[in-house]
Amino acid sequence: MTAATAGDGSAARDGGPNGGATGDTAAVLASAEVVSIPLRHRFRGILQREGVLLRGPAGWGEFAPFREYSDADCVPWLRAALEAAQDGWPAPVRDRFEVNAIVPVLDPDRAAALVAASGCRTAKVKVAEPGVPLSADAERVAAVRQALGTSGRIRVDANGAWTEDAAVAAIRVLDRAAGQLEYVEQPCRSIPELAAVRRRVDVAVAADESIRRERDPLEVVRADAADIAVVKVAPLGGVRAALRIAEQTGLPVVVSSAVDTAVGLAAGAALAGALPELPFACGLGTGSLLAADVSSAAVRPDAGRLPVPRAAPEPDLRSRVVADLATRRWWLGRLARVAALL
Ligand SMILES: [Mg+2]
Repeated sequence: MTAATAGDGSAARDGGPNGGATGDTAAVLASAEVVSIPLRHRFRGILQREGVLLRGPAGWGEFAPFREYSDADCVPWLRAALEAAQDGWPAPVRDRFEVNAIVPVLDPDRAAALVAASGCRTAKVKVAEPGVPLSADAERVAAVRQALGTSGRIRVDANGAWTEDAAVAAIRVLDRAAGQLEYVEQPCRSIPELAAVRRRVDVAVAADESIRRERDPLEVVRADAADIAVVKVAPLGGVRAALRIAEQTGLPVVVSSAVDTAVGLAAGAALAGALPELPFACGLGTGSLLAADVSSAAVRPDAGRLPVPRAAPEPDLRSRVVADLATRRWWLGRLARVAALL
């Protein structure tokens, strides 16, 4: 352990009686190791994926909320990491599950080649990125349909970029280009807009940001704003918390991830394994977005499927992706502050 980890580990231990870490949690927090991994392509404006690995009696957990998140936003991410390290995950009801290919903004030929090489029967196409015209999104979607064949499924994710009217128009164009979309994910930012779009189009609407970034993940259900819930383990506070929220929504669930390492992805896979129903391919085949990983046991999808793990893989390659000193200090400072909010 470096001086920086030891120093901030003890800071985390000083959490005090009205918050912060005590007992076993303090030992887990003191195990923190900060990693920084290059991405293959820019994603969410970043080229390095940073985070903290924590070791506990049940195994390894990952704490990697994006830099711009507030300390309060990071609390569920820490709960999820501590669940993995201290308690482990509930027993699975299946041992494999399907994942989708992810198609970033690429020219149509490259998008088709990516999908064909993935072995997946479902593709998620990113659309509505700034500066990319709808016609280019439609051409990419059409190329993905060619690659998948008629039995494949295509979903699009707009990450909340459209207005209500733009969403309605774009969804019609993309649904035609796809020869039917499986669903459209987060077409607009707000829940009222999602609800309005849902009333105006025949394509199913999935809520992602509206579940994980809202104070109340069930607001989307009360507003009748979605047909499908995209559920991520870390922002919802762990596998058990995500299972509860999935049940409370009463909606079919797609399990997804946030460009996690093999350790973080294992938590998503544990959720995919434990959900009573899993009608859609999951967004957990994202390991290949990273140019390196923390574990030699990182699992890549095989024929579009991933196994359900009992625990995260041993991060035996983490020494190759140790963050620099300034990055370590920043993350250990964040970890101590967020632990004080537990
Ligand atoms: Mg999304």
